[in-house]
Amino acid sequence: MAKKNIDWANLGFGYVQTEKRYVSNFKNGSWDEGTLTSDATITLNECAGVLQYAQTVFEGLKAYTTEDGHIVTFRPDLNASRLKSSAERLEIPVFPEDRFVDAIVQTVAANEDYVPPYGSGATLYIRPYIFGTNPVIGVKPADEYQFRVFTTPVGPYFKGGVRPLTIRVSDFDRAAPHGTGHIKAGLNYAMSLHAIVSAHNEGYDENLYLDPATRTKVEETGGANFIFVSKDGKVVTPKSDSILPSITRRSLIHVAKEYLGLEVEEREVYLSELKDMAECGLCGTAAVISPVGKIVDHGNEICFPSGMNEMGPVTQKLLNTLTGIQMGRIEAPEGWIKVIK
Ligand SMILES: *Cc1c(COP(=O)(O)O)cnc(C)c1O
Repeated sequence: MAKKNIDWANLGFGYVQTEKRYVSNFKNGSWDEGTLTSDATITLNECAGVLQYAQTVFEGLKAYTTEDGHIVTFRPDLNASRLKSSAERLEIPVFPEDRFVDAIVQTVAANEDYVPPYGSGATLYIRPYIFGTNPVIGVKPADEYQFRVFTTPVGPYFKGGVRPLTIRVSDFDRAAPHGTGHIKAGLNYAMSLHAIVSAHNEGYDENLYLDPATRTKVEETGGANFIFVSKDGKVVTPKSDSILPSITRRSLIHVAKEYLGLEVEEREVYLSELKDMAECGLCGTAAVISPVGKIVDHGNEICFPSGMNEMGPVTQKLLNTLTGIQMGRIEAPEGWIKVIK
């Protein structure tokens, strides 16, 4: 076994095919035993449920090489339980949580040569997902499904240094009250594509979505939760039933309280309060936390004091502590690190 000859530091966030993926099929009411395969291609009937009515849910997590040379993943049990709730909401059969974690371990171990070395800044992104495979034309759940896990090495997020983001308040909505905003489903991303393309065309990095009912409260962006730091040093994060429960955000909140001794408020956050915040960050598996320098609300600019050149001091501490835990430099809370080898 030898590490692949990849220019880790210059990898982007794109698909690089690796050697093995895990596949299990659901038929006649149960999941088969599952296996690793080299075949990266899926052959589906033209009428497959996923193709007609978007019956698919997914997860995203990473494998890291730690300072002492182990390969680990971060809290895969939470991805397992979130995939379970996503599946239940879309009438997809649940893939058992213990088997989910085992599939992650098997897939990463089989692609160990693609796990970027410690210090490269790169990581191995892991994508588990489930989709309806049999023909469905009348609107109903599929009877047959595939659970699959593939991996792809991804580059350092802050390549070329930190660049605080500029985001706009979107006129589109992301998730209706009592809708599907709290689950990780492809359908939430399909309908965000137009909003993100138009944001990019107008020079913004991301969209801030408001609660559709009152359009006064901050929800999240298309793929990351918000964390704010108030001018009196509190960590504030929006609470809403239609936000995707980010594992990174939940972990950062724990870090803020237990490692940094900060006060944390999880509550409704009004757009009108943002001008009183000192720092703003977007959190998710991809970047851990990326700083936001400016939010533009229809011509009205909200500029955070941390500015457009660097991240704020609390954001930086949160980032350093969580990545330190993930890379094995800082002791992790019980159960956060799953050692693969
Ligand atoms: C995946 C995702 C996040 C981030 O969740 P993590 O578990 O931290 O990666 C945030 N918002 C949305 C809409 C997502 O799909």
